[in-house]
Formats: sequence, structure tokens, C-alpha cells
Amino acid sequence: MALPMSVAPSPELDALLEGYRRFRENRWHPERDRWADLREGQEPRVMVIACSDSRVDPSQIFDVDPGEIFVVRNVAAMVPPFETTPGHHGVSAALEFAVQVLKVREIMVMGHGMCGGCKAALTQELHGTEPGQGGFIANWISMLDHVRDPIVAEFGTTGRPAERAMEQAGVKVSLENLRTFPCVRAKEASGDLVLRGSVFAISDGVLRLLDEETGEFTPALGDGADV
Ligand SMILES: [Zn+2]
Repeated sequence: MALPMSVAPSPELDALLEGYRRFRENRWHPERDRWADLREGQEPRVMVIACSDSRVDPSQIFDVDPGEIFVVRNVAAMVPPFETTPGHHGVSAALEFAVQVLKVREIMVMGHGMCGGCKAALTQELHGTEPGQGGFIANWISMLDHVRDPIVAEFGTTGRPAERAMEQAGVKVSLENLRTFPCVRAKEASGDLVLRGSVFAISDGVLRLLDEETGEFTPALGDGADV
């Protein structure tokens, strides 16, 4: 494959372009009609908010085609509260677009096991660092500070029980913050929008759904069905 002269080659770019070649052969050419439809616009019915972690790609986990889900990914799958402070509110912009323009019917927050962001929220190891040195992450995950104390009191700051509790609490915080957006609250109240929480476990590939009444996460396909 010949790269344009000014594009520096690298093994990483090679790997990306190899994947792109497979995509063109296997996904683009055979599905040209679908892509032609998508050129007219997108009508996803679901928005997924997930972590940026390279292991938890929603379109892979839910096995969807292009155009099916509108995705935002960031550190720890967080939704910030409705804020009008100066700054660039990327998640809020995407949320606004999904809810008000695309009119998605459901929003799923998907946390995951072994989440580095949740772990850092627990240990507070980035506390006090400068922006660019960990400070942006520290500030972002400070959204979890108010749920940290009871978790630390029960499980400490390290180990899977503490981490799992924080991963699950993070999903609940994001759902809570989603409901601080007036448009989300109104559409949920009118039945036009459903909010869901879930956690995907990297270790066994099991997706668990949150029952908001009990606060429990249970396997989405039922016990033992996710083998
Ligand atoms: Zn994560």
C-alpha cells in the first residue's frame, strides 16, 4: 500500500490500514445499499454512554451495524451534571443532540469491570496533579467523590470488591446526572425516553443490567445464560 509522501509510516498505521482494507472488502462493498441509505441520515434509537477503555466497544458488545447506536465514550462512562459553566461540554452536547435532534428512545450507561477510571476514583492517586499530568482525569472522576466514602468504609480503596462497587456506583451517578438535564427528565417523565444502567465484565464477558428499584446488577440473559 503506497502512502502519500508526507505520511510517515508506522506499524500502528499499518495495522489500522490493514483493518480498513478488511472493512472495505467485508463490510463496505457488500453493504453498499445500507451505506447509501445512511448517507441520507442516521436514525439510531439508542444512545450508549460507555468508557473509552479499548476493551469495551459497545458496537462490538451489542453486535450492531453502522447507524444503529449513537455512542459517547469517555473515562469511566461518566455523564456530568447539567452545568452551564464556561468550558466545552462534550458529553452534554452529544446528549443534547441524541435526545433533542435524533430523539433516541433509550439511553444506556454501560460501565465495565477493571475500569481504570473508577479505580483512580477509589485510590485518588491522581489527586492534586496538574492538568495534562493527570489533573484532567482527577477533575473528571471527582464526580465520583460523593459515592466514594461509603465504598471505602466497607471495602477499602483496593481490591476487586471495592473496585466493583465503584464501577457499579459510577453507573448510578451517571444515571443520576442524566436526570439533572431538563430535557432528559421531561422525556423520561412523559415516557418518551428510557434510561438504563449496565456493567460489562471483561473477565467473563457478561453484561449485567441495573434494576434501579433494588440497586442490583443481574446478568442480562439470566443466570448461566451468558456462557
Ligand atoms: Zn473504564
